[in-house]
Amino acid sequence: MILPTLKIYCYVELHVHLDGTITHKTAWELVRAKQLPLPGNGTYEDFSKALLITEPDTLQHFLSPYKYITPAYAGDMAANERIAYEY
Ligand SMILES: [Zn+2]
Repeated sequence: MILPTLKIYCYVELHVHLDGTITHKTAWELVRAKQLPLPGNGTYEDFSKALLITEPDTLQHFLSPYKYITPAYAGDMAANERIAYEY
């Protein structure tokens, strides 16, 4: 008996979340321009360090840096355009 050829198609959805593409420098500039709270002493170095997740932990911990950057672009078309352009 000859088995029918099986074709297996694998589909992978690849997409990018715009807020995951923002550079630390752009995020820092947007946060500063809107005078939003900055971690540490307000330097770029402290801000960039606060955005890094270096150890595995909970999803909440993984997403925690967004508390600094989301208010900087949410509802701001120019900021979103800049982030998309830089990506
Ligand atoms: Zn997604």
